[in-house]
Amino acid sequence: MSAPTETPGGPREHREYREGRHDREARPGDGSVKSRLRARARKKARRQRKRGFVRRKVCRFCADSTLRLEYKDAKSLRLFVTETGKIIPRRISGNCARHQRPLAIAIKRARHLAILPFAGQGL
Ligand SMILES: [Zn+2]
Repeated sequence: MSAPTETPGGPREHREYREGRHDREARPGDGSVKSRLRARARKKARRQRKRGFVRRKVCRFCADSTLRLEYKDAKSLRLFVTETGKIIPRRISGNCARHQRPLAIAIKRARHLAILPFAGQGL
């Protein structure tokens, strides 16, 4: 990169590349925080896709509307609890915030009724 030798096409190409990127990023009009955050997330996803290990996580409850969220349903709640009884975080389970919130409440409710354990069976 910082080599002093200059190929005739080299620096010019580099500059064009950077300008093009700049144009794409600085879009006029939408400067809200949300849109900026979304843009950053998109950029991150693009970068990860290039590296080739990304697998888009999908919220199960969003994907399948027949799936219900109930504290009585220990079988399905167990999917979102670790062996030691902890609630699996959203960044790992892939749940969206809108579904993770009631899910956590349902798990806590189930624990209170001894449907789910507070601490796991593995202990
Ligand atoms: Zn969801």
